[in-house]
This record gives sequence, structure tokens and C-alpha cells, in this order.
Amino acid sequence: MASKRQLSVGRPLMWVGIAVLSAGVAVGAWFLRTSGIESGVKAERSASRASSRGVSVGRVMVVVIGVALPCYKRAMSLPDMTETQIRRYARHIVLAEIGGVGQAKLIASKVLVIGAGGLGAPLLQYLAAAGIGTLGVIDDDTVDLSNLQRQIIHRTADIGTAKVESARRALGDINPEVRVVMHPRRLTEANAEQIVAGYDVVADGSDNFATRYLVNDICYRLKKILVSAAILRFDGQISTYKAWRGAGHPCLRCIFPTAPSEDAVPSCAQAGVLGALAGTLGALQATEVVKEILGIGRSLSGRLLTYDALDASFDEMAIAKRPDCPTCGTQ
Ligand SMILES: [Zn+2]
Repeated sequence: MASKRQLSVGRPLMWVGIAVLSAGVAVGAWFLRTSGIESGVKAERSASRASSRGVSVGRVMVVVIGVALPCYKRAMSLPDMTETQIRRYARHIVLAEIGGVGQAKLIASKVLVIGAGGLGAPLLQYLAAAGIGTLGVIDDDTVDLSNLQRQIIHRTADIGTAKVESARRALGDINPEVRVVMHPRRLTEANAEQIVAGYDVVADGSDNFATRYLVNDICYRLKKILVSAAILRFDGQISTYKAWRGAGHPCLRCIFPTAPSEDAVPSCAQAGVLGALAGTLGALQATEVVKEILGIGRSLSGRLLTYDALDASFDEMAIAKRPDCPTCGTQ
């Protein structure tokens, strides 16, 4: 991964590259201009002179490119990347907020996605496309015909296949450079800590409160950033939790101290869910994960963002940290 030292070395080199390139262009332009103003009786003599100057211009440009390009690549911390990676992530690298250093961070990062379902489908695909180096997928389910209306990482031919296996194949097609780690099991109190410990950021796309609360508590304990989203019918919500950072950073239990009973809140199977809504919230989750890894923009920590698909409107509410929160409270 690119370090700050590389960046501090890279900045002066970048300016050297730009200076050499500018000087080369100026010299080249002067040569061409002086060749161009030769005229009349001197035409024949100037023809041979222009030809030799053309060779000189060519040499200057070769030297300029030879010096400037490595300086530019060094400045962007691109030496750590292959030519294929530079081309694949070019639209990220060109963003000032990401650049070569940011892309190298994404490549070095490890993200665990809970659930390869409605939210996990777009989330996993965007994270793989973004070049997240290691993507963990946890799901104990197999692909069912009724999943395909929204779980767009799976295909009709995948029905009956384990979702982690179907997801692994799809992610490999999108970006073979990503290491996909399959966890074909349900997250439980017994295995959660060991699995979560191996990742930097966790994105929860599970469909039940028990898992959401378990992930919240484990991420708090292990100091992992958690980006959690939920969808039902035409409504979605998303927030980021890093409550171990203290004031201003609540956790899931600060909003809902205890999980409602499974009977009190209908599931997507009972109440239904608009397929594209999963895409909206899953893509938002992928964006927030990338932002957290890069440390750019405004975090969703302390805010709950809600989306009403029927009304086509977003809303947000501030979440306060509860002193008596069962997970992150101090009382
Ligand atoms: Zn809390």
C-alpha cells in the first residue's frame, strides 16, 4: 500500500515531471516555429535544416517523455500497480480525491459483506469493480427462483447453487484481481468474532434483526467500521457505525436498544420489497464503504439516511449516542 512517505516523495517528482514536460514542449514549439518562418530563396537550404531539426525535436520529445512519464507515475504512486490495474481503475485514479494512492488503499483493503442477497448483490459487484483486494461473502443460503427479482448477482442457471459460490463466480467475471473469500455459513455468536476479525470494514446486508445486532456488537468490540442498510416494501435506510470512536458516533443499539421480535416486523417474504430498491440501497452502501476506506467526504456515522421510493425522496435524521446504550453506553 502507498505510504505518506511515497506521497511526499511523489509531489516534488510530479512537479519535476511537469517542469520537464513544459520545457520540452516549449523547446519543441520553438524548433517548429523557427523552421516554419524560413521561406523564399532559403527554402531549399531550410528544407534540409528543417529535416535535421525534425530529428532534434523527435529526440527532445523522446527524452521529455522518458523523464516526465516515470516522474508522473511515481507522483501518482502508480509503480505499485500493473498496467492493467492502471487502465482498469483509470476513472478512479483521475479523481483528485482518490488518485493512485487512494486506489492502492482500495486494493489493499479487506471488506466483509454479510449476505449475498438483495443488498449484497449490488454491493458486492460495485466493491469488486472498485478493486477491493479481499471481499468476504457470508451466506448460508442457496439461490431460489424468488430471489432473482432483486438479487442481481445470481442467474437463473444458479438456482439451487450456494449463494456464496454463485457470487464468487459473478465477481470473478467482473474483476479476477479480487480475492473472494467464501463463508458458506450463518453468522453466529460462536463464529462471528473470528470471521469479522479478518476484515477492515463490514457491510451488513442481512435480512434479520438478530444478525444486525450481532454484527453491530462484534464490530464495536473489534473496532471495525460497519455500514449497515435495510430495505422493506418501498423503504430503505442506511447508516455507518463506528461507536468506539466516542462522542458523536452512536451504534445501532443507540437507535433501537433492543431488537423487536421477529413477529413484530414483517420480512421481505411476508411484506414484499421493490427489486430496484435493493439496488439503490446496496449502491449507497458500496459508496459509503469506499468513502470510509479512503477517509473522504462526510461519513454517515451519527446520521440515519432514509429513502422513500414511492415518494422519490431522501430524508436524514441525526442519531444521538445513548449514555445507557447496552453496547456502547458509558452508564
Ligand atoms: Zn450504542
